[in-house]
Amino acid sequence: MTKSVVIIAGGGIGGLATALTLHQIGVPCTVFESVRELRPLGVGINLQPNAVRELYDLGFTEQELDRVGLPAKEWALVGLNGNDIYSEPRGQLAGYKWSQYAVHRGLFHMLLHEKVMERCGPDVVRLGSRVSGYAKNSDGSVSAFIEHADGSTSEATGAVLIGADGIHSAVRAQMHPDQPPIHWGGAVMWRGTTWGKPIRTGASFVGLGTHRHRMVFYPISQPDPKTGLSMINWIAEVTMDNSEGWKQSGWFRQVSIDDFVHHFDNWIWDWLDVPALLRQADCAFENPMIDRDPVPTWRDGPVLLLGDAAHAMYPTGSNGGSQAIVDARILGATMVEHGVTQDALAAYDAKLCGPISQLILRNRGAGPFGLLNMVDERCGGTFDNIDDVIPPNERAEFMAGYRAAAGFAIEQLNKAPRTIPSGARASDGRAH
Ligand SMILES: Cc1cc2nc3c(=O)[nH]c(=O)nc-3n(C[C@H](O)[C@H](O)[C@H](O)COP(=O)(O)OP(=O)(O)OC[C@H]3O[C@@H](n4cnc5c(N)ncnc54)[C@H](O)[C@@H]3O)c2cc1C
Repeated sequence: MTKSVVIIAGGGIGGLATALTLHQIGVPCTVFESVRELRPLGVGINLQPNAVRELYDLGFTEQELDRVGLPAKEWALVGLNGNDIYSEPRGQLAGYKWSQYAVHRGLFHMLLHEKVMERCGPDVVRLGSRVSGYAKNSDGSVSAFIEHADGSTSEATGAVLIGADGIHSAVRAQMHPDQPPIHWGGAVMWRGTTWGKPIRTGASFVGLGTHRHRMVFYPISQPDPKTGLSMINWIAEVTMDNSEGWKQSGWFRQVSIDDFVHHFDNWIWDWLDVPALLRQADCAFENPMIDRDPVPTWRDGPVLLLGDAAHAMYPTGSNGGSQAIVDARILGATMVEHGVTQDALAAYDAKLCGPISQLILRNRGAGPFGLLNMVDERCGGTFDNIDDVIPPNERAEFMAGYRAAAGFAIEQLNKAPRTIPSGARASDGRAH
């Protein structure tokens, strides 16, 4: 039996950001992670300025982030004839005090793990340890049930259990036994990386096509000084009939490029050859675009949900990973104010569950890619001058609405005080 002040289920981005935050405010924790070995899995994700700010406050350096990705300079939507629909600068070029980073998810995850090992010690993350459920004890504490990779089981007791165990969360399943199954809206994504020459600014996120048939791509590495090539992350996406549900087994599987490249056969322009980009990839993964219906609370007494376990959402806003980091920091802030108590968990739940649940639904409605829908509806996707289809002020208003909802509003973020004041500790550093 393990005793720890805070027990964390899941050593993904959310769980490890929580471990680092707790260490910073003086709260011991143990992370139980189901996989036997952490490997640099996944392809590209974006860390928005609100999350990058938190990483700096956690002591990460620009050099470290440059090792796992690069600052994004532009976000652009392009129509089916290659004409610009919308573009805006990103990160510091947009006026934020912090960059937006486009990173390799696996490398970033490894960087977080390295920091946890360095600061909290090698025993804090227990690999091959799956949390299968929990029991709330009469003294207010909570016990997590652990299944180990060797087949043995154990229990860990603490003041608080954080379910950071991703979209298939066992903690959430127990907290909300009647939740509906995973929601799939019909979009299928094929993801991969290809070494290529970055276009436009050299660090541009480009969304191309329509809301039912599109490509998104952006570089996630600095260009190689010798070849000028960067690792380009791409997501090829097609929406299909979902009336019979998802037919494949599993939600994430490696596939052959030939399985899906035909959807993009004619996507060739003088500035971009999509079939060539796809064919040159090392490997590709298929995953349907899935999320979960919001739940009314992320808390059950001393148990709390965080990251995808709380709010798995469509990646249309590029904010799933960022929100997991922000969640960890808000939890740290509420523990600074209330100690490691159920009041701290209640304050976190009150602050985040409502607005982020709204964001889940907003992302279902295409998120910032909604502009592609408007173009498609108004002119079928091809146009000469976008101003004739969606006037500039309508485009700007649409994007400002999304930024505000996602917590990316520039002025608001720039003038916000630190989420966790420098040197702050959780009230008395232990449960009370
Ligand atoms: C292998 C993998 C690859 C991914 N690749 C991409 C990508 O390419 N692009 C993208 O946009 N997003 C990707 N994601 C999702 C993205 O990382 C998350 O949306 C985001 O970072 C939120 O992180 P999270 O920590 O809440 O969840 P996750 O990153 O899903 O982490 C959850 C962690 O909990 C562990 N776990 C699950 N169940 C249990 C349990 N019962 N007990 C203990 N541990 C458990 C998992 O092994 C995982 O390490 C990937 C996630 C994973 C797990």
